[in-house]
Amino acid sequence: MSSAEPSGFDRTARICRIDVEPAYRPDWFDPDAGAHVPLPPGDVAAGRATLPGRSLVWAETDAGRISLLSQEAGEPYIRYDWPSWKRYVLGEQYRTLARPLYTRLPFHYHRVPGPVRRVIAKLLLAQQTPTGRTGRAFPGFPIEQGFELLAHVWARVNPDEPPDNANKSDLPSQSAVVLTHDVDTAEGFPWVQRTAKIELAHGLPSVWHVVGRGDPPDYAVLDWLVERGCTIGLHGYNHDNKLAFLPADQIRRRLDACRPLIKRYDIQCFRSPSWFRSDTLFDVVKDYVTVDYSRLDTDRSCPGGIGGCLWTKPFTLGGLTHVPTTIPFEDPLYWGHDAEQLVNFWRPKIDWLRGCGGGIVVNTHPEPQFSGNARMLRAYDQLLDVLAS
Ligand SMILES: [Zn+2]
Repeated sequence: MSSAEPSGFDRTARICRIDVEPAYRPDWFDPDAGAHVPLPPGDVAAGRATLPGRSLVWAETDAGRISLLSQEAGEPYIRYDWPSWKRYVLGEQYRTLARPLYTRLPFHYHRVPGPVRRVIAKLLLAQQTPTGRTGRAFPGFPIEQGFELLAHVWARVNPDEPPDNANKSDLPSQSAVVLTHDVDTAEGFPWVQRTAKIELAHGLPSVWHVVGRGDPPDYAVLDWLVERGCTIGLHGYNHDNKLAFLPADQIRRRLDACRPLIKRYDIQCFRSPSWFRSDTLFDVVKDYVTVDYSRLDTDRSCPGGIGGCLWTKPFTLGGLTHVPTTIPFEDPLYWGHDAEQLVNFWRPKIDWLRGCGGGIVVNTHPEPQFSGNARMLRAYDQLLDVLAS
């Protein structure tokens, strides 16, 4: 039994561990990784009471096993309307983000020195340490394969779907590598070119999200990046982590104030500071950019609580394309891993992403307390060796 309702999840959401009929498990099925799906409440997608035929995917609930996907006489059956279920999960409707107290401080939390902030962040994220054997408790970290497994089996037994159907994106594509960075403060800029030179030596230009109205950006560094094929994105207004919790008109006012930077670099992409996100934020952001990097497939990184869109490929929702971040490279440092262990920590996930056609979307920060130091750059260089191989 493993139906669980940890705090941070919508009252009506049920997170269930699932299992897949062995003959229907794909090559990338990992018996040691998390495998859960959120079941939508009745007002999101009406559920069938029973499914006919042979069960191919089932959930473990308080009431015992329930079939989620079955087949009878070649006909596929699924418990909930698939497009509604998918929107519910990818849109993270099963989750409620908590607003941390420090975002209500009367002063900007960046006035606390970087090393002290790192200790505080470590304390906050310690509560979100991957739990269970090999990090299998929901959401599994670094791999939570449940919803991808469900989608895989559904696409497999449902081959007659028209090609423009939403299921098309459930089929594996080639894994794309996207290297992204968030420059939170002025202390990050001195490390930007050193980082980018390592990437360019691997033939991988990167995306650099910059705070619109925080510390003044180093324009010479940003121009240098653009000249070398890198992309500039927007990392919120001032990184006080309030943006996602504001009403739409206030979010709009803040993003309007970032227009000069957006215009200067023809910015098309966005990542919300500290991964804080909300439907209101995305609804406004889509009027400024086309691509969002604020979601993680499995999220233990946002200080607002655990969750994730449980999806590793780009998808469009509400007029905005979301590219889930799948390799938050530095985060295992919060849970007791060393810089020297990071590449091996991430290697199984890279293999898994390559197997299921998920995006290899990496994130780091150039500040000295994160990746702006010799040890971390060495680890990053080794990661890029793996990604380029
Ligand atoms: Zn940031």
